[in-house]
Amino acid sequence: MVYKNTISLVLLFAVLFSPLITFISVNLYSVDVDFVKPLMFTITAFTVIIVFLFLGNYFTRGRFNILNVTIYLSFIYICLFYFEEFVWLIVNYAPYIAGFYKFLLIALIILFASFVLLKVEFLKKFFVGFFIIILVLSIFSLLLSGIDPSRSKDFDPLENVSKEGISSHIYSNRTLDTPKNIYYIVSDELGSRKGLKVGGVNPNILNKIEGLLEENDFYIAKNASSSYNFSHFTFQSIFEMDYPVVKNSEYNPFDFFPASVNSLDRKNTPLQTTLKSLGYGKLLWFGNSAMDCTDRSTLDCPSVKSTGLSLFEKLYLDDSLMTYLSTSIYPRILYKVLNWLDVKQQKNDAIGKAISYINSIPYSSESKPSFFLIHQMLPHVPHVSEDCKRLAVSRQDDKKGYISSVSCLGKRLDRLIELISQKDNDSIIVVTADHGTSFLQPYMKYANFKDILPKKIIERHSIFSSIKVPNSCRQYLYPNIGTVNSIRIAVSCAIGASPKLIKDKNYFILFEKDNTIHNLGKKELPDSISVTDVTNRLTESPE
Ligand SMILES: [Zn+2]
Repeated sequence: MVYKNTISLVLLFAVLFSPLITFISVNLYSVDVDFVKPLMFTITAFTVIIVFLFLGNYFTRGRFNILNVTIYLSFIYICLFYFEEFVWLIVNYAPYIAGFYKFLLIALIILFASFVLLKVEFLKKFFVGFFIIILVLSIFSLLLSGIDPSRSKDFDPLENVSKEGISSHIYSNRTLDTPKNIYYIVSDELGSRKGLKVGGVNPNILNKIEGLLEENDFYIAKNASSSYNFSHFTFQSIFEMDYPVVKNSEYNPFDFFPASVNSLDRKNTPLQTTLKSLGYGKLLWFGNSAMDCTDRSTLDCPSVKSTGLSLFEKLYLDDSLMTYLSTSIYPRILYKVLNWLDVKQQKNDAIGKAISYINSIPYSSESKPSFFLIHQMLPHVPHVSEDCKRLAVSRQDDKKGYISSVSCLGKRLDRLIELISQKDNDSIIVVTADHGTSFLQPYMKYANFKDILPKKIIERHSIFSSIKVPNSCRQYLYPNIGTVNSIRIAVSCAIGASPKLIKDKNYFILFEKDNTIHNLGKKELPDSISVTDVTNRLTESPE
């Protein structure tokens, strides 16, 4: 009896604490991750379950088999953990099992499997043993992370910006002493009409956004493309106003966005140096849950006060807890509950944060001009509904979720553009994307570059791109403006200068180790990359 209770406790501990220990070991050196709330959550769950088990045992006078119940609960927990994978297996391989029936089918399979598990003694032993091994492995990985000090960094505030002449190859003939404010808005994964069509999405989903921008005198670059196929590289190319990787090399995450602007021991990027030397005051970064401004950033974090938040809203805004919960318990329940409680899910709403900020500051001729980088996660996952509520589940290849996310994005942009035109009509505004969609060959691992469909390259690189500049600057706009030249034009036109443009290029990057183009955010260690110049492929006809 005592022996069985001990086994139960160990199993329960292994099932609940292994994900926590793994989470800690992965994020051990991230200054921004706080482990206290995930730890509290796990301890609370552990305690509640133990109390439930022993009370059950007490009230049924021992007929309640603690070990069996623990195994059963652990099994259900694991099934919930992989529930999404089951659902998407059915969606992809048996699409005729739709709606409620697919959940019923999964429930029956889980019920049957748990019945078999509890009846076969060997399977029970295997189950317990398996989780103990997982626990030992997670402790081992935590120890390894602890021993490896190479990634701990000490940093000194970097104060002085070098004012050396990068500027001369960005613009010529400056005419304005006081620069205009620049709003550089990046909608993650917003494709162009051409890219959406190749990916199999009706390009008319862009009608509203294009209509809004044209009404506000934006120029829409219909044939624009991103410098790279990944956010991190494209953003870095914006900050360098050039192409940081053009040939195969080692990938060191600290050389690329967001790490390149999120550690104080790094040099300022050419964009930062240029803007500061032109007289800009604040270089503001409105980020999202994947990439955001922190205390260590060399960009300015906007202080957006969120007052009057409920307890749930505060918990929701806690990045560490939410990251932990969405990777360790059933996200379908998590987001259903959050929507049900009507928790304002503003974490990813960079545009919303920018709106609050712009509303809170006075615009006067005495204040120094500002540069706004607004990185809205939409229409990238996590997808939202048309009225901007987070969908319970979203996948990169889910077209419906993508389309409703574009609708929400349109509404957010509408409010932001209206506000800027009221308060700061004379400014430069860019609305663009960091890369296109990924409906063709999603979640694919590539043996090498040859496996990638030519159409996928077109889809992934084709981006929405639009810019609002003073009339005198309109002469520099053209249909192919890529991410490097859009920032060059924005900065030059903000000071009444002529931009010096470079050739628009496109590079497709693959990682050598797992050859995946997804989950880059999880890549924290150096890796080698293969870089292919795909510029000529993008000019080819998509058909
Ligand atoms: Zn992106």
